[in-house]
Amino acid sequence: MAKLHLITYGCQMNEYDSERVAGLLRERQYELTDDESAADVILLNTCAIREKAEEKVFSKLGELKRLKAHRPALVIGVMGCMAPLQQQTIFRRAPQVDLVFGSAAIARVGDLVERARREGGPVLETGEAPLVKITAKPPTADRLKAFVTVMEGCEKHCTFCVVPRTRGRERSHTPEAILAEIAGLVGEGCREVTLLGQTVNAYGRDLTPPTDLAELLARVNDVAGLARIRFTTSNPYNLTPKLIAAMRDVPKVCEWFHLPLQSGSDRVLARMNRGYTRAQYLDLVAALREAEPAMAFSTDVIVGFPGETEADFEATVEMVERVGYDNVFVFRYSRRPGTPAAAMGDQVADDVKADRNRRLLEVAQRVGAARSAALTGRRLEVLVDGVSRRSAGELAGRTRCNRVVNFDGHGRVAVGDTVHVRITDALPHSLRGTLATPEEAVCWSK
Ligand code: SAM
Repeated sequence: MAKLHLITYGCQMNEYDSERVAGLLRERQYELTDDESAADVILLNTCAIREKAEEKVFSKLGELKRLKAHRPALVIGVMGCMAPLQQQTIFRRAPQVDLVFGSAAIARVGDLVERARREGGPVLETGEAPLVKITAKPPTADRLKAFVTVMEGCEKHCTFCVVPRTRGRERSHTPEAILAEIAGLVGEGCREVTLLGQTVNAYGRDLTPPTDLAELLARVNDVAGLARIRFTTSNPYNLTPKLIAAMRDVPKVCEWFHLPLQSGSDRVLARMNRGYTRAQYLDLVAALREAEPAMAFSTDVIVGFPGETEADFEATVEMVERVGYDNVFVFRYSRRPGTPAAAMGDQVADDVKADRNRRLLEVAQRVGAARSAALTGRRLEVLVDGVSRRSAGELAGRTRCNRVVNFDGHGRVAVGDTVHVRITDALPHSLRGTLATPEEAVCWSK
C-alpha cells in the first residue's frame, strides 16, 4: 500500500473532511502514516480564518520542501479553506506543492492525487461542485464519538470572515443521507454525534421541501443505540423558538450550546454585520436557560475588531460575566484580505489586541471555574470515552454539559458505557468524581 500523511489545521469540519479524505484514499490503496518522511503523499488540510493559521501552513510547506528535495516523487497537496483564496500565492511561495484543491473537490481526491503523481503537478481544482455525502473513513477513526457534517458553506457575510469565500453558499445534506450516515456509525459502535455546519442552525432551508435543525434533531434522536447529540456552530441570528423547544424536548440533545457572541457591544456587532444586539443575545440565553436550566454555554469572541474602544471591550467583558460561559474561545481580530473589515480605517494596534486578549481570558477562566465548581456534589451522566490522562487506573468521560470527568470505574465500567458519577472536585481542566451507586444513579439534567 502507498503511504499517506495528513496534517489537519483548524476546525472540526476540517477534521471531518480529513477523515473522509483518508477513507477515500484508502479505497485507492493508501494507508495513513504518522511519519511524514515515509509518505508518498502529504496533504495539508488548511484553515484560512486567521492570518496565523495560514502562516503555519506556509512554514510547514517550507519544511516539506527539504523532504521533497531528497524525494522528488513525493506528492505535496494543499486542500481546504486556503485553496480557493490563496491558490496562486501557494504555487508562487511554495513551488514544491503539486496539488491544490478546495473542499468541494474532496469527493474526487483519488483522481486528483493520481493526476498529480502521474503529471508531477501542478494540479489545481478550486471550483464549485455538487454536494456529495461521503461516508468513507479510515480504520483509525474514533468509533465512539463522531462528527457528521450536515451542511456546507455560509451566507452570513460577517464583515470579518472569509468563510463565505472559502466554503461557498449554504447547502444542506438531505435528512435521509445524514440519518443513513449516523445509522452506519452507530452500527460500528458510535454513541455520540456532533452535527456540524458553519451556521448549523440554518440547516435545511435550502432543501426541497425545506426543513430545519429542530426536525433533524428529532429524527436523529430516533436512531436506536445512539446516546447523545450535539451540534455546532450556531448563529444567534438563526436561533428560533422551535430550536429552543427542541433543546428541551429531544432527550438525546445535550445541555451544551456553542453560541458565538463575537462582541458585547452593539456598535461593534453592527459593524460586524452580526444581525443581533446584546439584548437579543441575552434574551436567547434566557430562553434557553428557561427551557433547560442546566444549559452550559460556550462562545467565540473577537477582541480588537476595527474601531473597538475600551468601552466596547468592557461591554464584552461584562457579557462574559453576565452569561456565565463554561468556555470562551477568544480570538484577536485578524485582517483577512477581501473582507469589509480589512478595509476599515480604524484598525486596533497589536499590543492593544494582545492586552484585551489576556484580560478577557482571565475573566473567562474565572467565570468558567465558578461554573465548574458549582457542579461539585451533583450526580452527572458521563459517557465513558477512555482512560484518564491523570491516572491510568481511572476512566475518563464527558458530561452532557461537555466537561471532562475522571473517576474510578472499580472494574465495573467499560469505555462506551453511560454511567452516573457524583462530582467530588472541580480542578482547573477537569472534574473528579466517584461512581454513583445504582440507587443514586438518577440523571441530574434530563
Ligand atoms: N460560523 C460561525 C459564526 O460566525 O458564528 C463560526 C465560524 S469560525 C470558523 C470560528 C470563529 O473564528 C468565529 O466564531 C470567530 O470568532 C473567529 N473568527 C472568524 N474570523 C476571524 C477574524 N478575521 N479574526 C479573528 N477571529 C475570527
